[in-house]
Amino acid sequence: MKYLDEYRDPKIARALVERIKSTAKRTWTIMELCGGQTHSIMKFGLDAALEGVVDLVHGPGCPVCVTPAPAIDRAIAIARAPGTIVCSFGDMLRVPGSSENLFNARADGGDVRVVYSPLDAVETARKSPNREVVFFAVGFETTAPAAAAAIIEADRLALDNFSLIVSHVRVPPAIEAILDAPGNRVQAFLAAGHVCTVTGEGEYQPIVAQRHIPIVITGFEPVDLLEGIARCVDQLEKRESRLENQYARSVRPKGNPAALAAIDLVFETVDYDWRGIGLIPRSGMRIRPAFRRFDALDRFPTTSAECSTESSSPCRSGEVLSGRIKPHECEAFGLTCTPDHPLGAPMVSGEGACAAHYRYRRVNNKGSLLCSTK
Ligand code: SF4
Repeated sequence: MKYLDEYRDPKIARALVERIKSTAKRTWTIMELCGGQTHSIMKFGLDAALEGVVDLVHGPGCPVCVTPAPAIDRAIAIARAPGTIVCSFGDMLRVPGSSENLFNARADGGDVRVVYSPLDAVETARKSPNREVVFFAVGFETTAPAAAAAIIEADRLALDNFSLIVSHVRVPPAIEAILDAPGNRVQAFLAAGHVCTVTGEGEYQPIVAQRHIPIVITGFEPVDLLEGIARCVDQLEKRESRLENQYARSVRPKGNPAALAAIDLVFETVDYDWRGIGLIPRSGMRIRPAFRRFDALDRFPTTSAECSTESSSPCRSGEVLSGRIKPHECEAFGLTCTPDHPLGAPMVSGEGACAAHYRYRRVNNKGSLLCSTK
């Protein structure tokens, strides 16, 4: 196949659904790891098409959703400090921290800006030498190279008014944490194609070998997803476990060496506290000492009051993001939690599982349809 339309071809999709149904002798639980995949699954009704054959559960693949509240609190505190400009991607402005979001800081007079690239924030710093410009960097291995490039560029320009709050996270340790979680029921994973475009296959091979679990690197279109699911089901039925690459049109075995080199130059691996999930060893990134002057955590020491780790939110995002419940099983779904009044990040983000369910299938926790499926 060469063109996007072919990856949405209903005939090919129906044939794959039939193949999966005829192969599966029982119901298998498969987790898609990327929020973009979640939205495609819901949008195209793949979960409904495979009902009773494959239970698709959603993973922690929405970067905004797993950004911990203290990091957002820190960004809010910096935005309220005099002479600062805080930049980030659009979704980050709406995600609640412990009690507020960046829009609240902007409403209070803070200079909070949406940018489309970390390099935009570097340019803002270059043009505003009398202001402290802070980029709030979130995302998986996919977006980390751009943050690394921004630091390298700021270093080249010798900027002394640019720094980052780094909330980049790594997928493979999250897979291990999901497998180790009490009550885990995931039997195979669809790995995120765009993440693997950067990382390649290397870090997934040991997980497959040690955990005996199928992982299929998968794209985002309906035919991609169905093919990834079909490959998982084939392996599960044969009691096999391999790493397969369904997204070979983008993912090379060694990934993107230049992007990996930029990450390795700028960031070191650290333990990281995922929102709703908890501390996952070696799952985060921190700026290396050679570039530490660009670390906003060092540049803006903040009081514990400004960065509370306590939250009384009823949000069950951790259970949603680790596949233990579906969004509609959260008591707040569609009632007190909606995209207009989100209680948690998965209802805010364009990649959030709760937003996907709300948009495409509003079923409440009693199983009643809240609106028609689009
Ligand atoms: S529906 Fe709202 S409150 Fe419930 S898990 Fe999702 S984001 Fe959190």
